[in-house]
This record gives sequence, C-alpha cells and structure tokens, in this order.
Amino acid sequence: MVLMGPPGAGKGTQAAAVAGRLGIPHISTGEIFRANVSEGTDLGREANRYMDAGEYVPDSITNAMVADRLGQSDAANGFLLDGYPRTLEQVGELDRILTGLGTRLDRVVEITADTDEVVARLLKRAEIEGRPDDTEEVIRRRLEVYAAQTEPLVHVYADRGILVRVDGMGAVDEVTARLLTALDSLPTAWVHRRVQR
Ligand code: AMP
Repeated sequence: MVLMGPPGAGKGTQAAAVAGRLGIPHISTGEIFRANVSEGTDLGREANRYMDAGEYVPDSITNAMVADRLGQSDAANGFLLDGYPRTLEQVGELDRILTGLGTRLDRVVEITADTDEVVARLLKRAEIEGRPDDTEEVIRRRLEVYAAQTEPLVHVYADRGILVRVDGMGAVDEVTARLLTALDSLPTAWVHRRVQR
C-alpha cells in the first residue's frame, strides 16, 4: 500500500504504526534520503540540494532507489510506501516496478490535514528534530509543491478504485485507529487477512 498526505499530516508516524500492525516494512523515501545524507553518500549529497530547498529530488535518482528497495526480500509479502509516488511520472514508474515484481498496489490512503495545523506541527517538529527542511519558508514551499505535483495523484488512484481518505486531525492513536478501520472496512481479502493476524 501507499500512504500519501501533505508534509506534517503525520504520514511518517502513522506509516510506522500501520506497517507494524500489518507486519510489513515501512519504506519512506524521505528517510532513505536522510540516511544517505547523514552517511555522506553520493546519493545523499545529490539529494540534499533539493531537500534543503523543499523541492523534489529528480525522478532519475528517486526511481532507481525505490526499484532497488522494493526488490529486497522483506518487501516480497507486502510493503507500506511512505512518500512515494509524489509525481505522475513516479506513478507510472511504480506500476512498472510492481509489474516487474509480479504484484500491484492494493490500497492508497490519503491522510488529509488542515494547512495551518500542518505548518504549526512542522514548526514544532523543527524544534524537536532539527530537520533542516522544517523552516517556515521551506515548509510553505513543500506544501506548494505537494499541492501542485502530488495532490492530483489521488484522482488517478480514486479512478482505479483503490483510494481511501482518512482525516489526519486529532490524537495520533485516534488517527491510527481510523486508518486501520478504513483499511479493515475495504473489501480486499489481503487487507482483511493481514489486519486480523
Ligand atoms: P519526507 O520525509 O517524505 O517529507 O521527504 C523529505 C524530502 O525528501 C522531500 O521534501 C523531497 O525533497 C525528498 N523526497 C522524498 N520522497 C520523494 C519522492 N518520492 N520524490 C522526490 N523527492 C522526494
């Protein structure tokens, strides 16, 4: 499955909780980039230029990284992608990667959130985690980029009949419960089987 939502909607926190519950790996492209930045790899150096400005890392870098990660054995029985795809091109690339692996997406969940609330949350996170892309200017840019490039993807997945929307406002546990209920209520045998474990 894929978890989508604007920066600050609580995607990372919820992705970890839901993936844990479903027993599948949580794959966050942002986290893979940040790990590469702190390790000082070539990939990290290249990605960092874009991340610091609140822009998307080019598809040529991002797609190859995702293809590699999804091909690893722990993802063979399912995975939760957090932060990918973010562009229409990435939607097409993900389809190609999954076809190559003999699988397809079951669900795309969009966590919705109020803009003022997400800016407030991200500024608070900046104080706690010190992420360099959590300054107010970069936060506003990341929200703009999300609205222009990523929000439209929900229509693609809605047309495929695999999109669910979940309200991301409220306490962390409440939102997790909402997500699990939304997944559980869907008529996919796979999701039912996993949630009931
Ligand atoms: P995140 O942790 O999901 O907020 O991602 C942090 C940053 O990593 C983003 O602002 C982008 O610069 C970069 N990034 C993460 N995922 C992608 C992606 N799918 N495509 C392009 N850039 C990405």
